This record gives sequence, C-alpha cells and structure tokens, in this order.
Amino acid sequence: MREYRIAAIPGDGIGQEVVPAGLEVLRALEAREAGFRLHVETLPWGSDYYRRHGRFMPADGLELLRRFDAIYFGAVGDSEIPDHVTLWGLRLPICQGLDQYANVRPARLLPGIKSPLAGRGPEEIDWVIVRENSEGEYAGTGGRVHRGLPLEVATEVAVFTRAGVERILRFAFGLARGRSRRKLTVVTKSNAQRHGMVLWDEVAAEVARDFPDVSWDKELVDAMTTRMVLKPQTIDVVVATNLHADILSDLAAALAGSLGIAPTANLDPARRSPSMFEPIHGSAFDIAGKGIANPIASFWTAAMMLEHLGEKDAAARLMAAIERVTADPANHTPDLGGSATTRRVTEAVCDALRGANL
Ligand code: NAD
Ligand code: MN
Repeated sequence: MREYRIAAIPGDGIGQEVVPAGLEVLRALEAREAGFRLHVETLPWGSDYYRRHGRFMPADGLELLRRFDAIYFGAVGDSEIPDHVTLWGLRLPICQGLDQYANVRPARLLPGIKSPLAGRGPEEIDWVIVRENSEGEYAGTGGRVHRGLPLEVATEVAVFTRAGVERILRFAFGLARGRSRRKLTVVTKSNAQRHGMVLWDEVAAEVARDFPDVSWDKELVDAMTTRMVLKPQTIDVVVATNLHADILSDLAAALAGSLGIAPTANLDPARRSPSMFEPIHGSAFDIAGKGIANPIASFWTAAMMLEHLGEKDAAARLMAAIERVTADPANHTPDLGGSATTRRVTEAVCDALRGANL
C-alpha cells in the first residue's frame, strides 16, 4: 500500500466548501483504487485563526508542512482584513518559504462547457500557463517613506535573478517537450521594462538551445491578451512572470468557462519540499456560505496532486469522472449558467467514481 500524508488547508470563504468536497471525492477514489491511502490532516489556518492568534498560521507552520507529501489548499481572503495582509499571511509565505517556484495552470475546455469565445471548441483552448512563483513583481521588496504625508513615496521593486529566471524557463521548456504540440510562448514586456524582462529574453534564448525539439516564440504581455482571445489555437504552453501569468491565467480561466473550474499546482520541481495544490479562485465572499461554489477546480487540482505524487492512474480516473460530470449541464453550478449546488456536483463525481465503467 502506498501511503501519502496530505495537509488540507481549507482557509477562508468558499475554501471551506470546496476543500471538504474535494476530500470527499478523494475518499471515493481511494476506495475505488485500493492501491494507495491518503492520511489527511486538516489545518485550521486562515483568517479565523488570525482573529484568535494574531497570525494566519503557527510560527513553525512551514516546518510542520515539510512533514507532509503534499498540501491541498482552498483560499485565503476575508472581507474584514486587507487582502495584502491575508495573502502575505498564509499563501505567499507557503509558496515562497517552500520554494514552490513553478506555478502550473492548465486551461482546457472540459466537455459540456462553453467558452465565451464564440465558435471555439476544446481543440482550440488547451493551454498550460507556467507562472514564476518565487520572485519577480511579488518578491515583496520595497517600502513606504513619508507615510501619510504629502510627499509620501512607495516603491514596489520587481526582482529577477538569473537562477530564478533560468529554472522557470527550463521547467516550462521541459513541460512543453512532454506535450504533443511541443510549443512554448515566452511572455514578457521587454520593450518597456528594459532590465528584468530583457534578462528573461536573453535567458530564454540560451535555454532554448537545450530544447531543440520545442518550437518557441515570444509575445509581449499586452499582445498576449489579444492573441488568447483572437488566435487561441496558436497557444500551447505559456511561461511568464509572477504578475503577468497571474493576470493571464485568470483570463485563461474565464475563456475556458469559469474561474470555478481552473486549478493550479505550486510545485517545487526539485521535490525538496511538499508542493501545494489549489483552485486559482479566491474566497469569493459574494457566494460563500450559499452552497453554490463550483468545486470542479478543487477536484481538478486534486487530480494534479495525485499525478505529482506518482498516482497517474488515479489522477486519470478522477479527470475522467470530472469530465463525465461536466458533460451534463444538469451538473453545472450558477457560474456556468446552471443551478446545481456544490453538493450535487460532488455527489455526481463520487457516483461516477463508484461506477464500474470508468
Ligand atoms: P475570487 O476568485 O474569490 O472571486 C471572483 C469571482 O469569481 C466572484 O464573483 C466569485 O463568486 C467567482 N468565483 C470564484 N470562484 C468560484 C467558484 N468556485 N464557483 C463559482 N464562482 C466562483 O476573487 P476576488 O473576488 O478578487 O477575491 C476575493 C478574496 O479572495 C480576496 O480577499 C482575495 O484577496 C482573495 N483571493 C485569494 C486567492 C488565493 O487564496 N489563492 C486567490 C484570489 C483571490
Ligand atoms: Mn490570481
């Protein structure tokens, strides 16, 4: 029996709904597969924990997480606490502290889901966006001077290291090499940002020499938004900085049907630390507590987690169950134009997993 220790952090808002739903689905899958066992520990970290303890996770939180094989995360964000406090209190310290430098965001049109792009089908929207997850614009460097005074100054300094840029580009080229189309688009803004982004361009050209079987091109980030809308079929794997890929992947999620479907993996490809798997959406205050959050993103990211753990068959079976469920519009939550509840979608996926013909 292969055994894995999973830290579940539901966090805030709909994270409290979609992570338990995902754990239910994983239990059904575990019963079906029989080859592995998940030992799940749910950690009550997030904004309520902060209200009680003055911090979002314990001081030794990272050390605690290192004992797990993977982290299954919901979202963090609270209507009463500023977003930069919550994000820097929980999610970013985990990603940066565990050096999960590769943020992988697939965007694919699942069966039964319509893209807002008229006339585009699944063969035209099948992308993976790779986001640099450890530095760049979210390095946290900068500060404020003359606080509150008329001459107040704030700096937000983007940090690009050759090592950081090279490792994410190598990862992206490697990922592109493993896909059938073997295409990579390197996105920057090297016309306006002439230091860090030009370094990206230079390192991309160097790394590309080691991947002669991958065809690659460059695109400026503003032009990339129009290419995603107008020529989606020309895109396969995309790599970009922390900020640029953050924005592009929300657009990708919307073009692939809904933010409620899009998963992400925060990987330490060197496997020195556990990787973290989460939906790309946030805590969604507007629908929290209503039981209508789409749990598909958290199911899909659970499949990515199994894949990362080496359970490829289980991951494929879970994806097949997800696709069977999305194919039926009766299982669509309100974000997809339907009226299904989180509960209904969860039960449908569990039922599909229990069925014999999957
Ligand atoms: P959001 O992703 O929470 O919500 C954006 C919109 O998408 C909302 O209308 C929401 O209802 C909808 N939506 C999101 N997920 C959905 C789902 N599973 N099913 C159906 N509809 C869904 O983004 P926001 O409103 O910008 O942010 C809300 C809070 O979440 C903020 O505090 C923000 O900082 C935080 N946030 C956290 C993360 C994270 O923890 N990784 C990511 C993004 C935002
Ligand atoms: Mn985002």
